[in-house]
Amino acid sequence: MKRIAVLGSTGSIGTQALEIINGREDLSAVGLAVGSNWQEAVVEARGCGAGFIAVRDENAAREAAEAFDGVVLSGEAAARELIGACEPDLLLNGVVGAAGLGPTIAALTAGIDVALANKESLVVGGDLVTELAKATGAKLLPVDSEHSAIFQLLSGEAPEAVDRIVLTASGGPFRGRTDLSGITVEEALDHPTWAMGGRITIDSATLMNKGFEMIEAHLLFDMPYERISVVVHPQSIVHSLIDLKDGSTLAHLGYPDMRVPIGYALGYPARLDLPIERLDLAGVGSLDFEEPDPETFRCLGLAREAGGKGGISPCVLNAADEVAVAAFLDGRIEFTGIAEVIEKALDDVGSGPARDFRELFAVDEAARERSEELVQGLEDS
Ligand code: MG
Repeated sequence: MKRIAVLGSTGSIGTQALEIINGREDLSAVGLAVGSNWQEAVVEARGCGAGFIAVRDENAAREAAEAFDGVVLSGEAAARELIGACEPDLLLNGVVGAAGLGPTIAALTAGIDVALANKESLVVGGDLVTELAKATGAKLLPVDSEHSAIFQLLSGEAPEAVDRIVLTASGGPFRGRTDLSGITVEEALDHPTWAMGGRITIDSATLMNKGFEMIEAHLLFDMPYERISVVVHPQSIVHSLIDLKDGSTLAHLGYPDMRVPIGYALGYPARLDLPIERLDLAGVGSLDFEEPDPETFRCLGLAREAGGKGGISPCVLNAADEVAVAAFLDGRIEFTGIAEVIEKALDDVGSGPARDFRELFAVDEAARERSEELVQGLEDS
């Protein structure tokens, strides 16, 4: 029996993970963590038999404690404490945002494998996180569709046989446009192939999501940036590719369905039997590929630059993006303002090495403050 703690259990990744876990005898969910959505978490915990719930919001946690028979943890550190309380074999981290880094550190420190859907754990934590995993022997199992694809493609290949990683990008709802001015929130939230949460959908529309994924790929697979490329593939059938030194290119294909990468990480190293529609290539007909347009989608270049600098830069990139995307969703800035805020924040906060996690958390805070000022500057102009 593999005992799993699910962070972000009421989100898109969390609910799909629980659906897989609840359908199997060999997997069980022992702890759940949410931000404030306690009612749904209690229903989930009753359904899967989990004895522990972590609720970040203190008021929501009080309500949960009255309704739930098991243990309820509360406060900022609740998700982190959940790991010590329920001692899972695997942590599925589906938290959105930099708040996901703390639980990843806690699990890896305890030698617990992490199924990682929280991008910030790598984008913000950088090689401090991958080095921690190496030191304790805990595994980082990617849940993102692209990284899961690459992880699967690389298994069985010697590292020196791999020439290049190719990440596919759907291109988002504005693929083909060369002018991004006047875009509304509704337009930006309308993703053509993947149904996801608000922030990641906007990140997909700006291509920042792909930028974060380059940084994650660099860290997860120890691949230099010049050997990571991005190709736009609007159908999202090819989830990523690797080029090998003998001229072979391997690709991972399937309909866009997050249950595949979630299931792979939950079952690893075994493959689960999942009720997923099998790919009918003749039905798909044709697959298209094109170069990304970094002049229009500036976030891609900003991410590559920040990734190349390393140290605190990806942390600043992420913090600025979180603030800017929230401001766009609130109608405070234009869609094009997102890249503007990020570019200026990167300049203003500067770059340098990241010596420890405490330093990263301080940089994260400073970058958020500066980004908020930049948002206000755009609002006033
Ligand atoms: Mg992805």
